[in-house]
Amino acid sequence: MARILDGKLMGQQITAELRPRIETLAARRRAPGLTVIRVGDDPASEIYVRNKVKTCRDLGMLSEEIRLPATISTSDLLAEIATLNGREEIDGILVQMPLPPQVDARAVLLAIHPDKDVDGFHPFNVGQLVANAPAPRPCTPAGVMEILKRSGIAVAGAKAVVVGRSDIVGKPMAMLLLHAHATVTICHSKTRDLSAVCREADILVGAIGRPAFLTREFIRPGAVVIDVGINRVTDSAVAQAILRGNAAKLDAFQAKGSLLVGDVHPLDVAEAASAYTPVPGGVGPLTIAMLMANTVQSAESRLG
Ligand code: NDP
Repeated sequence: MARILDGKLMGQQITAELRPRIETLAARRRAPGLTVIRVGDDPASEIYVRNKVKTCRDLGMLSEEIRLPATISTSDLLAEIATLNGREEIDGILVQMPLPPQVDARAVLLAIHPDKDVDGFHPFNVGQLVANAPAPRPCTPAGVMEILKRSGIAVAGAKAVVVGRSDIVGKPMAMLLLHAHATVTICHSKTRDLSAVCREADILVGAIGRPAFLTREFIRPGAVVIDVGINRVTDSAVAQAILRGNAAKLDAFQAKGSLLVGDVHPLDVAEAASAYTPVPGGVGPLTIAMLMANTVQSAESRLG
């Protein structure tokens, strides 16, 4: 029976460990502060931002959301960021992606002061990551490393395969695993014989954005499987194909009208892996916890 790596529990542990640090900062100087900028009305972004702001407030941190119209220009958004860079009580600035097409997302990324870049996406911080030097690490891959550490999974010497090479997940994930002494392979849409490469993995990380794509043939029996993907399936035929006649889960899909599934096949992974992260309740909660950790760390460094 595969072990389920409970990201919700580990996320709660991480935030609980942050509490005394936040209280110390608040008692000595002030609570850490995070601003989240949301541009436009993307419903998924609204949920993500709400969760981030709420978690901040529950922890006693200063948190604010700045909502800007979808029609905003790059220069107006840069002016907002410049103001936030100059505000002493703000330790972290996060611009929720995606941005509307007229906004130059790279210019926005470059405008955030690296010290306040709690997403770890600024090129300076990317360089620090590559050099294994201190800097905020991208939250989702950092969360995966916490899951592995807190679950006692040996990374040093392991063969790790990361499927996906995005700047926000795949590449930083591979770099963190490398720094933890794994032997790392990065796969992408042009990788030849992907399933054979994946079957080499002691630790398999799926970060591709394709529902239940990594089926049994991709998983070496006994591997540890980390599923970063979050995909909402609304097509009944697709849901039925994934759930393969599991009556209880199909009923739940019919009642809700959607199924939340990762990049790894949920039934196959439970049978083939030795341990895996579920979706939901796996990597997702860690992403927010690591954002909080990066903000607290930023406040501690900025306040000396
Ligand atoms: P991107 O779309 O930016 O990148 C997807 C990557 O997967 C690309 O490198 C792409 O390859 C690769 N890929 C796509 N299809 C295939 C395929 N058939 N075979 C092999 N590789 C493939 O996605 P993100 O990295 O932003 O996100 C990945 C997933 O993680 C999504 O489901 C997203 O929702 C989720 N996510 C979850 C988070 C969390 O908190 N849990 C946070 C962030 C993301 P190529 O480069 O060749 O195109």
